[in-house]
Amino acid sequence: MAKRDYYEVLGVDRHASEAEIKRAFRQLALRWHPDRNPGDKEAEARFKEINEAYEVLRDPQKRAAYDQFGHRAFEPGGGAEARGGFDFTSFADAFEDLFADFMGGRRRQSATRGADLRFNLTITLEEAFTGKRAQIRIPTAVPCEACSGTGSEGAADPVPCPTCRGLGRVRAQQGFFTIERTCPRCQGSGRIVRDPCRECGGSGRVQREKVLAVNIPAGVEDGTRIRLAGEGEAGIRGGPPGDLYIFVTVAPHRVFRREGSDIWCRVPIPMTTAALGGTVEVPTIEGTRVRVQIPEGTQTGRQIRLKGKGMTPLHGGARGDMFVELVVETPVNLTKKQKQLLREFEKASAEQQGHHPESEGFFAKVRELWSELRE
Ligand SMILES: [Zn+2]
Ligand SMILES: [Zn+2]
Repeated sequence: MAKRDYYEVLGVDRHASEAEIKRAFRQLALRWHPDRNPGDKEAEARFKEINEAYEVLRDPQKRAAYDQFGHRAFEPGGGAEARGGFDFTSFADAFEDLFADFMGGRRRQSATRGADLRFNLTITLEEAFTGKRAQIRIPTAVPCEACSGTGSEGAADPVPCPTCRGLGRVRAQQGFFTIERTCPRCQGSGRIVRDPCRECGGSGRVQREKVLAVNIPAGVEDGTRIRLAGEGEAGIRGGPPGDLYIFVTVAPHRVFRREGSDIWCRVPIPMTTAALGGTVEVPTIEGTRVRVQIPEGTQTGRQIRLKGKGMTPLHGGARGDMFVELVVETPVNLTKKQKQLLREFEKASAEQQGHHPESEGFFAKVRELWSELRE
């Protein structure tokens, strides 16, 4: 019989979030749990099926492999990674973890997942444009070398717990009932470390500064979160590691302002250039210069678009544009001679209309306003 699609099994969308997948699994697992459906072969098969689907979809790496290769990803010799078959043994762990949440936090405490870490990284806009290979140093917990992360001196194998004889549970008589509960000595793992490692005190991990090389993709935006699976703190006593999240901040730029994949730049130009026309040199994000033509009669606020001179988009495709926003600058600290020339210019302009379209238009409107008020 053909294997059902894992997303279909859990009744979730292909783009479902981790939380949605977990929720769907919980509901189905509770419904088809063999304890609730004793002797029901179909329920048993369904339960196995949803466990298998969840085991893949809860793990971002396995999920990605499944999205790409389907069930082939986990067949011997199939898929990209050729994992050599699929490990079913961890089902029980996934399931117990999940149900521990319901049942008042009865967690298996022997091996615990390491904490997630957050690292704040600030880069320049230029680095966001080109992308960056950053070396980061994070103080974190790493597996103890002395005991290979087991927490046991000399990495000696843990021994079966003498209290529960390796079962992880102990029974106690209470009135008429026999109550089974988690073994308090081994916390349900069924194994204990006889001689705790002196280096790490038995936790299986030590504090170190870890150096990691991280690829920050070109086009990264302010506030982007990059997840590095398994690069968080080491787990306790051989538990799985947490994840590392890198929060990227793009520092404000002295000259450029970013808007999505476009770049804006305010460029002041002399009053004379604005009136007569000319050129101005502007910097670009890739570190070059571009000569921009200023048309005769340019006003403040005029925008000139430089196509394809913006940012690299994060997910490929064409570059954004650069917008040069012109600001006409009024000259200051004039010499006597300059003032004289401007007065002559003023006199010459007064005799003729059409030199200042904006103010002429504005004052025409004001005159209208005043005449309306008088009526
Ligand atoms: Zn025990
Ligand atoms: Zn150790």
